[in-house]
Amino acid sequence: MVFYSQTGGRSEGLTDWGLEHEITATRERISPLEDRVLEILNRADELAALIPQARDAVDKAQAHAASERARIDEQIQSKRQALALIDRDREAFRARLDPALLKDYDLLAQKYPGKVAVPVQGGASCGGCFTQLLPGILVALRKGDEPVRCQQCGRFLFAENKKEA
Ligand SMILES: [Zn+2]
Repeated sequence: MVFYSQTGGRSEGLTDWGLEHEITATRERISPLEDRVLEILNRADELAALIPQARDAVDKAQAHAASERARIDEQIQSKRQALALIDRDREAFRARLDPALLKDYDLLAQKYPGKVAVPVQGGASCGGCFTQLLPGILVALRKGDEPVRCQQCGRFLFAENKKEA
């Protein structure tokens, strides 16, 4: 055996018994390590078995993300189209308005963004500055022949929505 030829020349002069003992001791040290290696290999196999499943989940998630993205892109596109139509309508309305009125409107839009036209509150006050409106303004508003504005802040007025009754 290889052991004999290797150890035969040792100065300590290991006996057969000594060699046997050394082999046993080494086996005893190796055995738990082997168990551990087997355990690790087993775990590695278990994990490897999970890879196709995980890959499948990733594929599905990616497909879902792609379809969500497509859906959102579609929504953005449709909102952009709607916005373009609103812009076009807005320009058409502006073209029909009296230029002086339009100029006032634009000035008011800078001063009160998004609140140029306000409802009459409680049938008597400006919905923007809450000033009590003059009777003449309320009469003109009821007639509805021309744009009516608050005598205080200049905002355009429209009749209150009478839904809360
Ligand atoms: Zn006002």
